[in-house]
Amino acid sequence: KKKIAVMTSGGDSPGMNPAVRAVVRMTIHMGCDAYCVYEGYEGLVQGGDFIRKMEWDDVRGWLSEGGTLIGTARCMAFYERPGRLTAAKNMILSDIDALIICGGDGSLTGADKFRSEWPSLLEELVGNGELTAAQVKPHQHLNIVGLVGSIDNDLTGTDATIGCYSALARICEMVDYIEATASSHSRAFVIEVMGRHCGWLALMAGVATGADFVFIPERPREHDWKEDMADVVRRHRKLGKRKTIVIVAEGARDKNGTKITAEEIKKLLADKSEGGLALDTRITTLGHVQRGGTAVAYDRMLATLQGVEAVKAVLDATPETETPFIAINENKIVRKPLMQAVAETKKLAEAVDSKDFEKAMSLRDSEFED
Ligand code: ADP
Repeated sequence: KKKIAVMTSGGDSPGMNPAVRAVVRMTIHMGCDAYCVYEGYEGLVQGGDFIRKMEWDDVRGWLSEGGTLIGTARCMAFYERPGRLTAAKNMILSDIDALIICGGDGSLTGADKFRSEWPSLLEELVGNGELTAAQVKPHQHLNIVGLVGSIDNDLTGTDATIGCYSALARICEMVDYIEATASSHSRAFVIEVMGRHCGWLALMAGVATGADFVFIPERPREHDWKEDMADVVRRHRKLGKRKTIVIVAEGARDKNGTKITAEEIKKLLADKSEGGLALDTRITTLGHVQRGGTAVAYDRMLATLQGVEAVKAVLDATPETETPFIAINENKIVRKPLMQAVAETKKLAEAVDSKDFEKAMSLRDSEFED
């Protein structure tokens, strides 16, 4: 009987609980034993009570629970080999055969590293006498499957990550609330949303709320943004619009790579000097409300279908199989090579950091091959 464990790691996102529920129940449905590792990699390093067997009823009602009920953590120890060595030992002591990890690109990078090191970790554990050859023998191969849990929709290779549509829905709801005040008082609002390297939330929220202007990290304007924004806002006001909504991603930059802040935008909108817009302007930083709350129906469905696929991928895996993650492409749930997606995602973030925006945009647009 295979023993399949699931964990959530890195930043929480709505839909993680539905993903865990799907993995646990599909595992049991397939005649295997289901386990949860609590508190992300910290639980693997701690072992013992952090690794718990799960029954069908243990995940009842989890579709409508926000956050992650099995906890998540940032685990410094797992960055280092000794931490991963302890994690490997704990997995063998718990007899776990496969690990399904729901997290962001950091967590998935850690997962891939763990798998590639696995044979040498086992060798070391036997070599230093922590485990016997007989104990490690049934665990020669470690199967790992990734599920992408992130509100930012920031992993290359999948159309949507678990949680991104919930965060987007939350942002739109908040903008709707703010709009009531904005149009009543004829005010301007600068709304800061999450997204350090990835402007998906800001961009889609702009489309979904009909914002006047949007700033994202990947694609600064060629022209001076101050002039561009002022022109657009002035034109919209002339057309009779009583509210102005500007959405700015946390990581928004100008063409020189300098961060564009909500304060700067506000200053421009509120500028009372001659020719200035002179709008009564407020800033709203949405912060963690974007991560909270229950998942929207789309994320529950995505998490459930992907959780089921993750268990299937574990059961299909051979020692030669590349570590996969579960994606959605053109509305189909598919398996893709994990490391390629993580590498592409890193390249994109690096391109944004090094102000190579042309490269960032081409990476954003290019879909790597299956
Ligand atoms: P996210 O998964 O949301 O991107 P982090 O980047 O914080 O979040 O990663 C979560 C955890 O995954 C880290 O605390 C660490 O334990 C593990 N991890 C991340 N990157 C690596 C890495 N390069 N090597 C080993 N473990 C890693």
